[in-house]
Amino acid sequence: MNKIAIHWFRRDLRVEDNPSLQFAAQNGPITPIYILDTVNNTQKEFKLGEASAWWLHHSLHSLDKSLANKLNFFSGDPIEIIKELIENNEIESFSWNRCYSPWEIKRDTEIKVLLKENNINVKTFNGSLLWEPWEILKDDNTPYKVFSPFYRKGCLVKHNGPRGIVSLENVTFCKKLDSSGDIDSLNLLPNHEWKDKFENYWNIGEKAAMTKYIHFRDNGLTGYKEGRNFPIKDNVSILSPHLHFGEISPHQIWHDNKDLCPEKDVAHFHSELGWREFSYYLIYHFPFMCTENLNKRFDKFPWSTNKDYLNAWKKGNTGYPIVDAGMRQLWETGYMHNRVRMVVASFLVKNLLIDWRKGLEWFNDCLCDADLANNTASWQWTAGSGADAAPYFRIFNPILQGKKFDPDGTYTKKYVPELENMPTKYLFAPWEADDSVFKEAGIEYGKDYPKPIVSIEESRDIALKAYNQIKG
Ligand SMILES: Cc1cc2nc3c(=O)[nH]c(=O)nc-3n(C[C@H](O)[C@H](O)[C@H](O)COP(=O)(O)OP(=O)(O)OC[C@H]3O[C@@H](n4cnc5c(N)ncnc54)[C@H](O)[C@@H]3O)c2cc1C
Repeated sequence: MNKIAIHWFRRDLRVEDNPSLQFAAQNGPITPIYILDTVNNTQKEFKLGEASAWWLHHSLHSLDKSLANKLNFFSGDPIEIIKELIENNEIESFSWNRCYSPWEIKRDTEIKVLLKENNINVKTFNGSLLWEPWEILKDDNTPYKVFSPFYRKGCLVKHNGPRGIVSLENVTFCKKLDSSGDIDSLNLLPNHEWKDKFENYWNIGEKAAMTKYIHFRDNGLTGYKEGRNFPIKDNVSILSPHLHFGEISPHQIWHDNKDLCPEKDVAHFHSELGWREFSYYLIYHFPFMCTENLNKRFDKFPWSTNKDYLNAWKKGNTGYPIVDAGMRQLWETGYMHNRVRMVVASFLVKNLLIDWRKGLEWFNDCLCDADLANNTASWQWTAGSGADAAPYFRIFNPILQGKKFDPDGTYTKKYVPELENMPTKYLFAPWEADDSVFKEAGIEYGKDYPKPIVSIEESRDIALKAYNQIKG
């Protein structure tokens, strides 16, 4: 039997800047594998959403192509699959890049023990973070809970590469294992016409990610600090799904643009990558926060269970145009701009008083970039229950947010086309317009577009009272 070096692809679906793949290359021809874990991620918060499954299918397809169709596909319980691989092959080395979700850490620890017991050289690497969560601690050796000192005192003073990874051009891949299925055996494409329209918006895979990054670097990075707040501007990278699946690494991005100007834009862009690091850091040190409030006071919060409100929010029928535009952008494209994510999340939690976990679940299913760390940390941040969170009394006003960040209404009208002829003056508060305005705009208010499901002022007061109850 020939000895094989296995690299286990997980959320590092790229060939460049891949430390585990490089390690495997030193141990002879590589046997690359992908395992769809259908067993260990049982909690609904951790489940692979439909949009993510769609993305994953295409990303694996693209990766397989760049590996000369030598990627081995498995689906099931990784522990059982790896036991079989050990039994049927002579394995020289087994390596992967680390993942940081609590359930993955638990599973990977067991797998490492199994491999070591079988005298296999097992190695794990950091392929997706700029700093390992355990390397950044306060002077008293406890983890940070506030972003600014975490980033400035913890991260920025520490080296983060570049890693000097060599090109893998001359690496060879072994012929496929007999036990491997093909990509369709993973059954990733949801049986849902929803996915079809996604194809209009995305190019998936390592090459597409790099092309998109370069386009952003050359066209969007200048002006990022201000422009990133305006959903219609091209100042955001839209790299989040590529980063989530590891089609591009934060190292590649950070080191490519670190010496560019204007400094304020580059520094701000880096700090957003820093928020990504912070999210991973938080779920590493406080794994319970993926399902529970980080701030335990919120356990007593009187959440509403109003299903009609939740459904109106999901469908983008709340009667608040900027909220509806965001929710419909999500449904249409599998993505939503960050500013609008904050507005819709604040609306769900602080105006509809619905538990942040309901929002997280919907985002997890619909976002192509659904990411346990970023999603959890961001929802808890918006709800006020998380680390360095927006204080509960800071409630985004969807009317002012719309006017400020979508001043001529282009974004809102794009996703809420029934308001296309509404004068900008009334666009974010249609109830202020009189009948003649609707008539001229050709809109039957309440029929073509819904009236608000709650009053902003009243719902705000109710939220603040509820918060006062738990303030202690
Ligand atoms: C309620 C809510 C839920 C969110 N859920 C997710 C999620 O599931 N997955 C996800 O990747 N992001 C999530 N975010 C964070 C942020 O909205 C997205 O990362 C960002 O909009 C992606 O767009 P971009 O790639 O153009 O970002 P850019 O502005 O170009 O930033 C570059 C990269 O930095 C990271 N980043 C930027 N902003 C943040 C942030 N606030 N927190 C953490 N990382 C950030 C992302 O990886 C992003 O791709 C959420 C935010 C909110 C308010």
